[in-house]
Formats: sequence, structure tokens, C-alpha cells
Amino acid sequence: MNENQSLTLRGDTFRIYLDRKTIQERVAELGRMISTDYDGRKPILIGVLNGAFMFLADLMRSIDIECEVDFLKLSSYGVEKISSGVVHELKKIDAPIEGRHVIVVEDIVDTGLSMQFIMDIMKKYRPASLSAATLLHKTAATRVEVPLQYVGFKIKNLFVIGYGLDYGQLGRNLPDIYIIEEEE
Ligand code: 5GP
Repeated sequence: MNENQSLTLRGDTFRIYLDRKTIQERVAELGRMISTDYDGRKPILIGVLNGAFMFLADLMRSIDIECEVDFLKLSSYGVEKISSGVVHELKKIDAPIEGRHVIVVEDIVDTGLSMQFIMDIMKKYRPASLSAATLLHKTAATRVEVPLQYVGFKIKNLFVIGYGLDYGQLGRNLPDIYIIEEEE
């Protein structure tokens, strides 16, 4: 467990919510599930930049079957803590995925709009199969239901940072996940 139980970033206070050991154990479990489910199928993981890079790196190391990786990038919140619901594609995938077994890897599903947008793009490439993995799911915030086959943790509807997730580009390097302190 991190000794620093709370921290301040951009004037807001955050407290530790999921420590690195808890995260690593759950990510390893997801990796084992994917290895079993996709045995013999050589999936391609599509990481959603920037937030998913750390989860994706650990997830991929936990997968012990042949697999590939590529990335796409969506527009971000900027320094806002609330989902704008407006998403643009900033970087397309390079790999041909027609006929491939695709797993989209996100850091967090909040309203679900980003994941729905990505799934709609992916379907146009006609993959053999399509599934979604997300480290975090804010179930109470979800406005559109997108099937999520691999979910690390269902979390409260509060802003989180760390382990790839940022607050105005800061905080991604934290090995643990922190949640914003609720105002009194
Ligand atoms: P959605 O489209 O589901 O509302 O939001 C998805 C994206 O919003 C995520 O990929 C992430 O970039 C960002 N996001 C949503 N909630 C949080 C949060 O609590 N913390 C951070 N850092 N980003 C979030």
C-alpha cells in the first residue's frame, strides 16, 4: 500500500482508492480470462490513448497466448472533470482488422459514449469478433449501454486519477488510483 494516502493536484484533494497490488491482481485475472477465452484465436488489442496505455501494457503482459496490439486516440476532456459527451477520433488504427478478433481496451467507461463511438468505428472494419475491456466502470454515470466483457472494477461516480488516468495531463504516472475527495 502506498504510504501517501492523499495528494493534491491542480488544487483538488484526492485519496487513495485502489492500490497498486489490488490493481495488479485484478489485471492479471483479466489477462488469464482473455488467454482462456481467446485460446487459438490470436486477438488484437486496440488500446485507447492516452489513458489506457498503462492498463494495456500490464494486461498484455498477463496474456500468455499470441496477441497483437495497436492504438487509436480520441479527443479528451481537456482539464474538465465531467464528460463532455462529445468525442472525435484523433488517431486511427494502422493495423488491418477485417476478420480479426478485436478487443478494445479502455481505461474507464463513464457515460459510455466513447466506447459506443469506438465500437461503431470498429464494426465498420468488419472484425471476426469484437469485445471490450475496461479497467474501470462508473456504472451510475453510464448513459448508453455498451456490452463490456472484461471489467476490472465497478467504481463510484467520482473523478479518479492515476495508473494512466489524468487530471489535465497530470497524474498518469501514479502507480495507484486516487479518487477526488467529495465536497462537504
Ligand atoms: P465516457 O465517454 O465514457 O463518458 O468517458 C470516457 C473517457 O473519459 C475515458 O476514456 C477517460 O479519458 C475520461 N474519463 C471519464 N471519467 C474519468 C475519470 O474519473 N477520470 C479521468 N481521469 N478520466 C475520466
